[in-house]
Formats: sequence, structure tokens, C-alpha cells
Amino acid sequence: MAKNSKTPLLPGATIGVFGSGQLGRMLALVARRMGYRIHTFSPDKASPTGQVADVEICAPYADLAAVRRFVQGVDVVTFEFENVAAEVTQLAAAEGIAVRPGGWVLHTTQNRLREKHFLAEAGLPVASFVAVHNLEELQQGLVQLGYPAILKTAAFGYDGKGQVKITQADEAASAWQAIGQQPAVLEAFVTFARELSVVAVRGVDGSFAHYGVIENLHRNHILDLSLAPARVDPRVVTDAIAIAHSILTKLDVVGVLCVELFLTGDDRLLVNELAPRPHNSGHLTIEAAITSQFEQQLRAVCGLPLGATDLVRPAAMVNLLGDLWESSEPNWAAACALPNVKLHLYGKQTARPGRKMGHLTALANSVDEAQELVLIARQRLNIVFLFEL
Ligand code: AMP
Repeated sequence: MAKNSKTPLLPGATIGVFGSGQLGRMLALVARRMGYRIHTFSPDKASPTGQVADVEICAPYADLAAVRRFVQGVDVVTFEFENVAAEVTQLAAAEGIAVRPGGWVLHTTQNRLREKHFLAEAGLPVASFVAVHNLEELQQGLVQLGYPAILKTAAFGYDGKGQVKITQADEAASAWQAIGQQPAVLEAFVTFARELSVVAVRGVDGSFAHYGVIENLHRNHILDLSLAPARVDPRVVTDAIAIAHSILTKLDVVGVLCVELFLTGDDRLLVNELAPRPHNSGHLTIEAAITSQFEQQLRAVCGLPLGATDLVRPAAMVNLLGDLWESSEPNWAAACALPNVKLHLYGKQTARPGRKMGHLTALANSVDEAQELVLIARQRLNIVFLFEL
């Protein structure tokens, strides 16, 4: 069978994933359940993905000889983060191994400037922005966009990293220093009413599926809480899904892609950013949907038909950051005593503040109930153990 063809890769085939964090781990768990083999490549040892993969290769992404050996041993290549260098996907393609989603999807989404230009040219709504390559352009951009504005590095930004809010003209120079004087996007500040996401998937045959709209709350720029379905007007849902459909189609995505959106006070949607892989806000689909975002990723990259995305119950998810470990090991038993709450831990060895260590998902009869339950569950993690003497 030609590895690059649209012939489905069936159980027994090997999926190669670049990156080895929690997203790869949850993909690997599904792959194992469905009888696939999974190999992971990253610079890290004993990684969250490596712990459950069949093979873990630890090498720098720049080690193209190691990359070549890795792709020669798999049937399809995917990734769990978008900052994989173009050479890596080009090399896989040159070896005749399908890369899903394709290298052009990575190329577009790993750079905020390219991503913004793609969205704007596709006629999709984005906050006003200007490209910034030097302090002069930043100063001109601030005159154009007004205050406040957000300066974001074009490359390697996530969870608010590489971002500075500018509230007045005399902050421009220090902001430019703070982001390391590198190519950036200056964006108008959006006073949003809600942050939303659409986790969507597209198959090799162009089939499209989505999980409706998910509502997200951030704390210190890191996702804290996700709720599904989002508490928004049905028209907002229709519009958000149309935007996601347009993006996945225009980018010719094969795989999962998450569209992060702002909803303004007057119910307008603006695309904030794209993640061409399963997304933190979609973790609740593991329990809440018939087919999780990770199974959809596997199905899409293997060329299988997509699964049903219906939500079986309203759900809420909270992240568990390393901060929780500050005084002692969290009280897992206290959270698990709530029968509609599910615990996920990613097997990370060191708990650092802000590091995503795991998450909790609660299912309930309404989103509000699920939210209340998942927050109670997380609070319970702080209950100090009582040891009997
Ligand atoms: P990002 O890394 O672009 O997803 O940004 C992280 C978070 O910063 C977002 O989820 C928002 O909460 C906030 N943020 C980013 N861009 C803007 C903006 N233009 N206006 C207001 N808040 C923003």
C-alpha cells in the first residue's frame, strides 16, 4: 500500500507523533485502545507520551538523521504542537510518509503574522492588527490602533508567553525590549464578553465534524476552565461553526484544529488564534462526547471515517497546574469521591507553577451544575490528609 495514499491505515499501523506532552499522551492512549502502534519523537525523556507509547525517541528536532530514521519507522506522521520546524515535515514528505495535517498548516499556524494574514485574506473576522518589525513600526501601529494594544511575538507564543499589553505611548520601547525585539503582531485590545473555542476535525475525504462551541475562562493567560456547551446565543454557535468550517476547508486540514475566538459585548466573533491539533479546551470531549478529540485526530490522520461528536452530557473541565503541589501532594481521593468527576494526570515528574499537570472533568445535567461540581472537586484537592495514629 502506498503510504501517501488515501487508503485508510488500519489497526496495527504505526502513528508517529512529533512532540511528547499530554496531547500526545492522550492520543497514544486512544491509539493503544484501538490497536494502533504509536511512536513519539521529542527532546524529552520519560515524557508524558513516551510513558504510554510503543517507542520513544529522544533527540533534538534539529537532528535530521534521527528524524529520518523516525519517519522511516512509521506509517503516518502527526504532531501535538505546532512549533515543529518545516524541515521535519518536509523530510517526512520526502520519505513518502503522509504528514497530517500537512506542512502548510504548520507553516501558517506557527507564526502569528502568517496566521493573521491568512485569516484576514480569507475574509474571516480578526481584531485589527499591524505587523511589527522594529520600534518605529510599533510606534506607528500604536497611533493607528490606539490603546490598549497587545504586542505578541510572531513565533513561539503560547499561554500568553511573548505578549505585552501596552497602555500608553511611553511603554512602546520597553515592550519592544520585553519581547526580544523580534517580528511581532500588534493587536487592538478586545474587550470581550466571553472567550470561546470550536474544536473541529476534517477527514482525508473532506468530511467535517465539530463539538459545537466551548466556553473558556483563563487565569494568568492560561486556560483555567472550559464549559460545553457554551452559554451563548444559537446564532453565535452557527456563526462560530461556519468560521471553523471555512478555516479547516481553506487550510485543507486533515486532522483536528481548534479555533479560539473572542465574543464581543455586541455578539460579534473575532478569531484570536488557531491550534492545528487537539486543544486543552477539548479535553472534556474524552468523557462528554461520543468520540473524543483524540480519537478524531487518530481517525483523521489514519484516513478512517470520523466518529460522532454529540455531547452525551453537559461538561466542565478545570486544569490542574503545578501550583497545586506547592504544600503537599493533592488529595486525589477527596476529588474522586465525587462520582461524576474524572481525574486525568499526565505523568509529569516535576510540578512547577503554571505547568499543566492534569485536569478534572465533571459531567452534570447542566453546564452550570458541571461548573460548580468541577470547581468543588478542585477545591477538594487542597483538603489536607488526616492520618490516623
Ligand atoms: P493568546 O496566546 O493569543 O491565545 O492569548 C492568551 C490570552 O490573552 C487570550 O486567551 C486572552 O485572554 C488574552 N488576549 C490575547 N489577545 C488579546 C486581545 N487582542 N485582546 C484582549 N485579550 C487578549
